[in-house]
Amino acid sequence: MTPGRDVRSLCLAASLAAAALAPGCLPPPPQPARPNVLTDPCAERLHNLCGNLLLYYSAHKKLPPALEDLISAGSFSRSPAVCPVSNRPYVYDPAGLPLPKRRGRLVLYDPLPSHAKMRWGILVGPPAPGGLITANVVLVSEEELTAARE
Ligand SMILES: [Zn+2]
Repeated sequence: MTPGRDVRSLCLAASLAAAALAPGCLPPPPQPARPNVLTDPCAERLHNLCGNLLLYYSAHKKLPPALEDLISAGSFSRSPAVCPVSNRPYVYDPAGLPLPKRRGRLVLYDPLPSHAKMRWGILVGPPAPGGLITANVVLVSEEELTAARE
């Protein structure tokens, strides 16, 4: 690296810093970090509810008719079926909403977009030839949910 190049990059850094500090020229606010499915407490709660869901399905060959049936279906979830952020009960619909560009139906989701303006939900895939379904915890944007509800 030549000394001249160092000076130019320093000048560029200084002018960028000055631009960021200039009034009326603030950098955009940082985007909230995308919640992590492995560490988010709400996602963990839904993972446990997935266990109940699969247990109920294997016994009855259908999804539980109501949220109460889902909670009492197994011992995976000992937590109440409420979002730990909004403290509101999850929305449950055994018929499920078809999410655009995703395989399966959204059967349970956050009542509010409490996670970086998104919602956690459980996406249930169609029964496989063996008769078993899949259930995955997914992050759903408001655009996807609006499209699914139309
Ligand atoms: Zn939540």
